[in-house]
Amino acid sequence: MIIFGTRPRTKTIDTGTFFCPHCQTTRDYERKEARPYFTLYFIPLFPIGKPSEFIECTICRVTYTPDVLRVKRAPNTASLATHVNNLKTNLEDGMSVEYALRDLTDAGIDRDVALGMIKSAIGDARRKCPMCSLTYAASVTTCREEGAALI
Ligand SMILES: [Zn+2]
Ligand SMILES: [Zn+2]
Repeated sequence: MIIFGTRPRTKTIDTGTFFCPHCQTTRDYERKEARPYFTLYFIPLFPIGKPSEFIECTICRVTYTPDVLRVKRAPNTASLATHVNNLKTNLEDGMSVEYALRDLTDAGIDRDVALGMIKSAIGDARRKCPMCSLTYAASVTTCREEGAALI
């Protein structure tokens, strides 16, 4: 009797770190590719069908679709507090609104919430750099990027 069948073979094609929804923290992941193989006497001979990719947490071994890598990191509360506490000072010291916004969103704050925080720190008035288009608090006079006078 000839015994044949299919069996998925997986191989690791990439590794990195991600926010594991199961562990609720940052973990190492392995990006794996699974592909069904035609087997003869349980020996995989050749691939059949399309490969599919998934992400596996190296700690809890829960697997996810690759979309999991787009999940926002859990808020980093230490850097979050620093950014929030220093927001007004940084903006008035000449940090651009765009950079402040990036710091806040990187720390895990929603963009809309971050924009609201910036507004409550420096109000609505902005000056804009004619060279690079970054915007600043109204009290700032020069662009931090290339020193251009703001308009
Ligand atoms: Zn995990
Ligand atoms: Zn500029």
